[in-house]
Amino acid sequence: MMWECPLCNRIFKKNQQPHFCGDKTVGDFLLGKSVSSQGLFDDLISKFEEIGPVKLHATKSMIVIAADTGFAYVINLGKNHIDIVLPFDELYEDNLCFRKMAQVPGSNKYNHHLRIMYKEDINDEVFEFMKKAYANGKKV
Ligand SMILES: [Zn+2]
Repeated sequence: MMWECPLCNRIFKKNQQPHFCGDKTVGDFLLGKSVSSQGLFDDLISKFEEIGPVKLHATKSMIVIAADTGFAYVINLGKNHIDIVLPFDELYEDNLCFRKMAQVPGSNKYNHHLRIMYKEDINDEVFEFMKKAYANGKKV
């Protein structure tokens, strides 16, 4: 049997499947994506929730993960991976996890691109960067 979450309209195989729902637009963004990438998405959000509460909202092209303000962006859900961007005020060149880093044109922000293919990819190094990103989303 299938269960549709009344809040985000995502469809699950299991009744009352635990997941993170934002609004309906988040559900729309996730609609039709593979079970494996949706699972990675939920893993990522649970990891952020270990740091603190997060809110989700979607635009046409991405899901924004926010504390007080947006601090991370899920830009793609592939068949077996998800792509995330973490913007920072400085370039962290010394890392093993980012595929690509680029200055945002006309700003002093640097986008750090991360691809998650397995739950284990959210390792200690990634978690440290997630904490830095989360701190940027908190109003001080
Ligand atoms: Zn939901």
